[in-house]
Amino acid sequence: MIHIAEKHNCCGCSACASVCPRGCISMKADSEGFLYPEADAQTCIDCGLCEKVCNELHPFTRSEPLKVLAAVNRDEAVRMKSSSGGIFHLLAQRTIEEGGVVFGARFDSDWQVLIDYADTMEGVKAFMGSKYVQARIADSYKDARRFLSEGRKVLFSGTPCQIAGLHQFLRREYANLLTVDIVCHGTPSPKVWGLYLEEKRKGGKVIRDVVFRDKSCSWKDYNISFTLDDGTSLRTERTEYWKDLYMKAFVGDVTLRPSCYACKAKDCSSRSDLTLADFWGIRTIFPGMDDDKGTSLLIIHSAKGEEALDYSKFDCKETSYGLLRPLNPSCFQPSAEPAKREWFFANLEKKSLSKLLSKSMRPTFVQRLRRLASGVYHRIKKVLS
Ligand SMILES: Cc1cc2nc3c(=O)[nH]c(=O)nc-3n(C[C@H](O)[C@H](O)[C@H](O)COP(=O)(O)OP(=O)(O)OC[C@H]3O[C@@H](n4cnc5c(N)ncnc54)[C@H](O)[C@@H]3O)c2cc1C
Ligand code: SF4
Ligand code: SF4
Ligand code: SF4
Repeated sequence: MIHIAEKHNCCGCSACASVCPRGCISMKADSEGFLYPEADAQTCIDCGLCEKVCNELHPFTRSEPLKVLAAVNRDEAVRMKSSSGGIFHLLAQRTIEEGGVVFGARFDSDWQVLIDYADTMEGVKAFMGSKYVQARIADSYKDARRFLSEGRKVLFSGTPCQIAGLHQFLRREYANLLTVDIVCHGTPSPKVWGLYLEEKRKGGKVIRDVVFRDKSCSWKDYNISFTLDDGTSLRTERTEYWKDLYMKAFVGDVTLRPSCYACKAKDCSSRSDLTLADFWGIRTIFPGMDDDKGTSLLIIHSAKGEEALDYSKFDCKETSYGLLRPLNPSCFQPSAEPAKREWFFANLEKKSLSKLLSKSMRPTFVQRLRRLASGVYHRIKKVLS
């Protein structure tokens, strides 16, 4: 029976709960708001399946990528609605045209995030764009297995640990399955997101839309935008990501799941066919592909991944995996756990979220001292040169 001794060792993929033949594992939120499995010892038959499929109890195997591309969808409207270069949409479109089913992350009625499926392009719209909150798997692994067994094509997208979890759950290869993950530096707590939404709803406002990567001004300096209804009118609030407290804490790694600081699904080890990410640093490698509207990093891991791409629908240039190391470190190594994370979660709900977020992002005394010393050093260097 599954038992979580150390939270850093459970990514919350739900493979254990999905596989249990007695349905005796439920995913329950802890005080930080992350889901962990809880098994009912009374109904457990000790079959050991949950441990067999658990991502974290088995070593991950790294694979060498076949190809690394900088890529942009030629359909500009689609690209503007996507977080980077709009490559996910192309994969989804092809799957739907071939009668398949697409799995991706969408908002629920409370603006929390779950993995769901769609078999129309209208349904796929909800999966477009990054949602910077941990998505719950719900029944999606079981739904995917059902469609695969019926012989339908399935495109399953998610974080690397969710893709690794799906493969563990399925325990066999399916020719009709294509998996795509994202480079993921971590997923924030649904509870923190919920508290943040409560602040947005103050004064009785109703949230009508949330866009984490509003590119209307810029891709690199993207805005997070909320469309709020105060009963008389709709207003869209856009804030640059580095001015928004929720986004600052996400980018600063304060609100991530404990397993993200010990992530095992890095460096091409999730068994996905394709990986998508932002091509940060595109200006230094292919300046001609940088129009600040979003460029995707597309890593091809398998022949199946290569076959799924329709090269007539996007512009691309090939580069090498090694070049990515300084440009996108999240591909290779887990985020570092900030010193203030523990303090932040220990005080969640005890203080106002805004105060907590801004305090947790304030540099420590040592960090301030280091910055001061570095400033003085650079000024002296400038004067002497
Ligand atoms: C939590 C998170 C962290 C990320 N961290 C990085 C990073 O550190 N560096 C980097 O280069 N790129 C990161 N990305 C990836 C990047 O933001 C884009 O999602 C990616 O480049 C795909 O863009 P696209 O334009 O092809 O398609 P889009 O339409 O933007 O992509 C949507 C895809 O993302 C999936 N998705 C969205 N939200 C979630 C979620 N909460 N959980 C699981 N899947 C989700 C959808 O299912 C769909 O497959 C992250 C994405 C997420 C969701
Ligand atoms: S050992 Fe088997 S029955 Fe018990 S919780 Fe795990 S999967 Fe379920
Ligand atoms: S990592 Fe996944 S399979 Fe393992 S215990 Fe956590 S939720 Fe279950
Ligand atoms: S950083 Fe790793 S453990 Fe955390 S959500 Fe992403 S893939 Fe999963």
